Amino acid sequence: MLNFELYNPTNYVFGKEQITKLTDLVPKNTKILLAYGGGSIFKNGIYDQVKTALSGFEIVEFGGIEPNPRYETLMNAVEIIRAQNIGFILAVGGGSVIDGVKFISAAVKFEGNPMEILKKRMSIKDISQVIPFGTVLTLPATGSEMNSGSVITINETQEKLAFGGSALFPKFSICDPTVIESLPKRQIQNGVVDAFTHVMEQYLTYTHDALLQDRIAESILQTLVEIGPSVVENPTDYKLASNYMWCATMALNGLLNKGVPTDWATHMIGHELTALYEIDHARSLAIIGPNLYRVMFDTKKDKLAQYGERVFGIQGNSVEEKAEKAIEKTVDFLHKMGMLTKLSENTANYENTADFIVARFEERGWKGLGEQQNVTPEKVREIVEMSY
Ligand code: NAP
Ligand code: FE
Repeated sequence: MLNFELYNPTNYVFGKEQITKLTDLVPKNTKILLAYGGGSIFKNGIYDQVKTALSGFEIVEFGGIEPNPRYETLMNAVEIIRAQNIGFILAVGGGSVIDGVKFISAAVKFEGNPMEILKKRMSIKDISQVIPFGTVLTLPATGSEMNSGSVITINETQEKLAFGGSALFPKFSICDPTVIESLPKRQIQNGVVDAFTHVMEQYLTYTHDALLQDRIAESILQTLVEIGPSVVENPTDYKLASNYMWCATMALNGLLNKGVPTDWATHMIGHELTALYEIDHARSLAIIGPNLYRVMFDTKKDKLAQYGERVFGIQGNSVEEKAEKAIEKTVDFLHKMGMLTKLSENTANYENTADFIVARFEERGWKGLGEQQNVTPEKVREIVEMSY
């Protein structure tokens, strides 16, 4: 195993009717910014639950954080916090609202232009330089409720950039699985596939000696394969909903990556597809993932074979045969989850996509992505072209 430090200060509050606990979790002596998205919380009753729990607190509301949150929108919240001396932020929403709040939290006290945080992919470690925040999760998918990462889109340059740092863990996250009852099917499909891909990014690398890490990853993958299609159809089934929510958090709360190599190239390439064509985050991953496994077959085949055997019960005469079948099974699963795995099925103007992405990666000086830094710009081209 590789050396590691495991630090996760988020108070994770899970279960039915837990939103009432906000009363005790939110600090009493300061003004609170209640941040949310496009208004789903007004229709499904979550806003009312939050307001009831926070009656008596001084609250300023900030709505309109969009899916794939925009730097330009978030800067309006930064101005409000600075002007009104707000000391705590409550994010009520999915990954976009929570990621957006992480950026707001880091930008308020930042000296200089906060866009630098994104452009330089800064690591924010000083807790005294951020505004503390908590979350009420409404969409299980990203793990943002229990991690310190964030992905923000800059409208002006059409870039989607990741940043984070140990100062950006939520103080608490309230995760009530019944919130998924109001989710559109498309968003549940997306959530399962995002969580599935998070596990793959930290698992599907090369074979190593971190035995427990592999088994934890495989158990999350198996659970998602087992419940994914049914939770889309039966979001009111608490057994399905609660397991889905816990899987999504466990997939990216900083546990799986300990002591092991990680890939993340699917996300890095996928972010470009979202920035270019507004393809949903999870759908961008479904387009890229299987093609990345194909192009990087030589370095990933041993792990692919192990994954095939343990997650899907695949048998075969050789590593190659099992690895190929494992990719097919993955694509089948993605299709069952409603994903369209070709770029051309997701956008009409796709032909120059590979040129565009490779040019951007070169401009940023990215010579190689992935666990061995061997996903070179040429490999990225191959992966993207294979996805057309
Ligand atoms: P999202 O963008 O937060 O939300 C998608 C849609 O679902 C929104 O229209 C939202 O509506 C709606 N919605 C949310 N909860 C709902 C509910 N309970 N009922 C009905 N509608 C609901 O989706 P997401 O998949 O959670 O987040 C995606 C973002 O997270 C991407 O930008 C992605 O890059 C990022 N991400 C972050 C991490 C990380 O570690 N930080 C990891 C992976 C991905 P409203 O706006 O009206 O609420
Ligand atoms: Fe993701």
